[in-house]
Amino acid sequence: MAYEIIDSCVNCWACEPLCPSQAISEQRPHFRIDAKKCTECEGDYADPQCVSICPIEGAILNPFGEAANPPGSLTGIQPERMAQVMAEIQAR
Ligand code: SF4
Ligand code: SF4
Repeated sequence: MAYEIIDSCVNCWACEPLCPSQAISEQRPHFRIDAKKCTECEGDYADPQCVSICPIEGAILNPFGEAANPPGSLTGIQPERMAQVMAEIQAR
């Protein structure tokens, strides 16, 4: 089981130095996690370090394919409110 970085990663480098398994590497179009190396940080940390530091909601999926930092978890803005505001902005 492993975590996965997806398209919304902004290549900020924050996670790469924190991985205790050297599982994260710079690649294009976005950073990637080597599933064979990812240990989910078990035995090293209580929480997955990449998820703890990543500033982008949804950029990392947990081993179940779900956003490890789901919408609203970092910004505190609920997804419904975000959608409402974006609709208002686009309507201008
Ligand atoms: S969960 Fe831990 S071991 Fe896996 S990629 Fe993230 S920091 Fe590395
Ligand atoms: S911390 Fe998040 S946004 Fe930054 S490189 Fe890692 S996965 Fe991408």
